[in-house]
Amino acid sequence: SKFLDLGIAENVAKAIDEMGWEEPSPIQEAAIPAGLKGYDLIAQAQTGTGKTGTFGSVILSTIPSGQKVPSAIVLEPTRELAVQVSEELGKMSDFSGHVCVPIYGGASIERQVDELEEGVDIIAGTPGRVKDMIEREYLDLSRIKVIVMDESDRMLDMGFIDDIEFIFKQCPADRQMLMFSATMPEDIKRLATDYMKKPKEINV
Ligand code: AMP
Repeated sequence: SKFLDLGIAENVAKAIDEMGWEEPSPIQEAAIPAGLKGYDLIAQAQTGTGKTGTFGSVILSTIPSGQKVPSAIVLEPTRELAVQVSEELGKMSDFSGHVCVPIYGGASIERQVDELEEGVDIIAGTPGRVKDMIEREYLDLSRIKVIVMDESDRMLDMGFIDDIEFIFKQCPADRQMLMFSATMPEDIKRLATDYMKKPKEINV
């Protein structure tokens, strides 16, 4: 398939095939090969362009499944997006067996903790609740290999900057970071300068 040609893992390409995606979208074509090579990415992209398929392909092709603590974390501005991304990553994991757990505020923390205790490979969460769970020692980010900042401009507009930087600091220094934003204001560029290593820029 055309997704296999981009270098993604076979079991992920198989899931994508079952989802009925026939061709990579422009951002998928531009970003997946660079992401699989391990580059940090800063991508200017609107919603609906296939961002989840982009970072999902990179994450699922590079991290192990069946782990106790997460190897990847995706930060989202809202509960709805955290749930939506978690569901899409779940479908993309049909054959690789990765487990994705959504973590968001305004819902029972105990239930989310129970889910984490069953083992988790990927977290899709909102910054406030993720930080809260780290502080209460329910969430261990010491094994993180990939961090995704989705909808970065919206997250900063919502005042999540301190929570986001707190979360970054809980992750290993040698992790990969994939940053997505519809716009690129100065505060996003500052984050990229402070936390990314020679990121490749992608505009679609
Ligand atoms: P997103 O930008 O991640 O919110 O994706 C927008 C929508 O496009 C979602 O419903 C995806 O399931 C779908 N989608 C993503 N990539 C593809 C693709 N390559 N072919 C067809 N549909 C896709």
